[in-house]
Amino acid sequence: MREYIVGVDVGGTNIKFGKFDLEGELLERWSTRTNANNNGESILSDIANSITEKMKFSEIKGIGFGVPGPVANNMVLHCVNLGWAEKDIAKEFSDIINEPDVIIKVANDANAAAAGEMYKGIAKGYDNVVLFTLGTGVGGGIIVDGKLVEGVQGVAGELGHIQVDYKHYFQCKCGKKGCLETVASATGIVNIAKVNLKKYKNQSPLRRFSNFSAKKVFDYAKEGDFIAEKSIDEAMRYLATAMGSIFFSINPEIIVIGGGVSYAGNYIIEKIEKYYYDKVRPFITHTNFALATLGNDAGIYGCCYLIR
Ligand SMILES: [Zn+2]
Repeated sequence: MREYIVGVDVGGTNIKFGKFDLEGELLERWSTRTNANNNGESILSDIANSITEKMKFSEIKGIGFGVPGPVANNMVLHCVNLGWAEKDIAKEFSDIINEPDVIIKVANDANAAAAGEMYKGIAKGYDNVVLFTLGTGVGGGIIVDGKLVEGVQGVAGELGHIQVDYKHYFQCKCGKKGCLETVASATGIVNIAKVNLKKYKNQSPLRRFSNFSAKKVFDYAKEGDFIAEKSIDEAMRYLATAMGSIFFSINPEIIVIGGGVSYAGNYIIEKIEKYYYDKVRPFITHTNFALATLGNDAGIYGCCYLIR
């Protein structure tokens, strides 16, 4: 009796596992360290071993993988963090476990997180969803008519690399300058605040620190500090610009904000809305915005969704 689905969210540091029933109820979660040595050659067998400690493969209907790199048609194109080049996980993992009846599906991890929020999180009940994950970088996922949009080369939903800033032109780790990630991630917010501390003469509690986090910028902005608030406004204006482009591409029902930066709560949504509607008028007057609710579990839920 195949009564379980397993979600495996493979990160550069940790691998998160979720054991689900066929209705997508999370029964157990656990994690292991990622061993990316030797081009990550042991990762799949490590995953297989970890799953066998919890259940038999004959009990599993399917296993969904989320990986930190582009995926198209179930094929991983590359994952720099894991040391993987093009990789057919479905075939390799099937060979390792020797259970051809276990369904194996693979998706990009940020896309999987978007699917997770649609399946069991804040975007439940919606079929057209965009997720922006604001953390150290900016990730994203796009769902149209209930289906993940991967694109031909697996890079649809890489929202962090939409170019939006032609003023600061900060270097992005992708090689380009001015990507959304350089101005709207936690790192980007700090980048902008540091520029504004030089540009404006106003007093600011941020001047007490040589280094500070995006959280500090949010905290002082909420208290009305001029430079902090100006910096948040600027970052959210860039984010709203990218959201406006997405609006005109797929006209989503809901835009979900996740990742570490979403701790700023409704304040962040107020700031986004302040700029977003300028970008989409006069075509619409309302888009739903919401904060992600599944946190770090979004990925494993999304991996489960791939199989359900
Ligand atoms: Zn970039």
